[in-house]
Amino acid sequence: MMKVLLCGGGNAIHVLSSYISSRDDTHVTVLSLFPGEADKLRDAIPEEGIRCINDLGDDVYGKPDAVIGKAEDVPKDLDIVVFALPSFTHEMYLKALKPYVKAGVTIGAMPGEGGFDLCAIHNLGSEFCRHSNIFALETLPWACRILEYGKKVEVLGTKKEVEVIVSPKHGTTKDEVVTEVLHKLVGRLPELDPADNFLAVTLMNINSVWHPTISYGFYRNRDVTVPFDEPPLFYYGADEYTGEKLSKISDEVLEIKRVLLEKYPSLHLHSLHHVSEWMLRSYGDDIGDKTSIYTMLRTNKGYRGLTHPMREVQVEGQTKYLPNFRYRYFTEDLPMGLIVTRGIAELAGVKTPHMDDVILWCQEMLGKEYLVDGELKGKDLEYTRAPQRYGFDTLDSFMEVNHYLDDA
Ligand code: NAD
Repeated sequence: MMKVLLCGGGNAIHVLSSYISSRDDTHVTVLSLFPGEADKLRDAIPEEGIRCINDLGDDVYGKPDAVIGKAEDVPKDLDIVVFALPSFTHEMYLKALKPYVKAGVTIGAMPGEGGFDLCAIHNLGSEFCRHSNIFALETLPWACRILEYGKKVEVLGTKKEVEVIVSPKHGTTKDEVVTEVLHKLVGRLPELDPADNFLAVTLMNINSVWHPTISYGFYRNRDVTVPFDEPPLFYYGADEYTGEKLSKISDEVLEIKRVLLEKYPSLHLHSLHHVSEWMLRSYGDDIGDKTSIYTMLRTNKGYRGLTHPMREVQVEGQTKYLPNFRYRYFTEDLPMGLIVTRGIAELAGVKTPHMDDVILWCQEMLGKEYLVDGELKGKDLEYTRAPQRYGFDTLDSFMEVNHYLDDA
């Protein structure tokens, strides 16, 4: 019997609860630390369980064995802990669970934005994590939404392939074992594709480059207090300057890669590419004009119609739109994304003037302070996953404590 702990209580937890509880070989507990959510969810789930309707034609029913609101009530000897939560809550869960999980457990996040491993190691300890399996999925395996709270959830789209990182690696067997276990839990699709290591994935986090930079490029010469009649297009609205800025920031990330490989030649960073290469690999023939990043953004079928995150406002009885800087493009892709990369650059001694332009603008829009006088020392650094926030001030200690050289 595999003992599974699911952390959270939203859309993704509904899907996971249904899928995993429908199996005969699992014991499932849901933990929500959000005040009142555990009671509400427990009361809402009917005897037959949560119904999950999905795009693969399966209709699944599963009822978790328990829904709890306190970490001290988690079962002993958990085999696997899955966070399906916004990343700003990960630390709270790790701190709460620390006394109740044993080394050897498999613990991870879907999605696990940049630096999930840093957060886990900081909170659970480097030795604990060396003897456990820390994993992250690059994204949620499905687009999903609750149709009826506690009763019915819909998977709108299942991804075909999702990258999974497992750390530390002790050869491929362990990787495969964890991937196999995870595979059982997320359903027959997507395929889980093992990635190089957390460092490569953190530096290749495409959202951390795309979202802040495209937002900066679009709004940089605009008055952000003037409402729009319609939400403006996100990718199709990018200009040539933005395409070049994305390219230059990606060059800065590749300079970090160069410096790291010079210092640690056996490090695996094969999956870290320029964003233009990532774009061609990910979208291929969906792209109409492959001349430059600018043309690729504006002719990628997969990006058609997607708009900037906005909030509605009423102006003289009419609905208008203002930028929503509280959206995850800023609240997650900056502190758990670009700031993490910027912190690694600082440790590696790599100058990042283009990244800094974007960070300085975004932090002003967010009302936060991360980068000050060219260094990550702002008052809001403690809410990020930058290495500096965890006290790392040398590249060697950062690489060693976080096990990046273990499998090199
Ligand atoms: P959700 O919004 O449905 O779930 C939010 C859950 O997070 C809440 O139920 C609560 O348990 C917890 N939470 C939120 N704020 C909290 C707080 N202040 N304190 C404690 N707990 C808090 O999210 P979801 O749709 O289940 O997605 C989970 C993650 O996956 C999110 O980061 C989301 O951005 C990402 N994601 C979701 C989808 C999707 O289709 N649903 C797709 C891609 C990525």
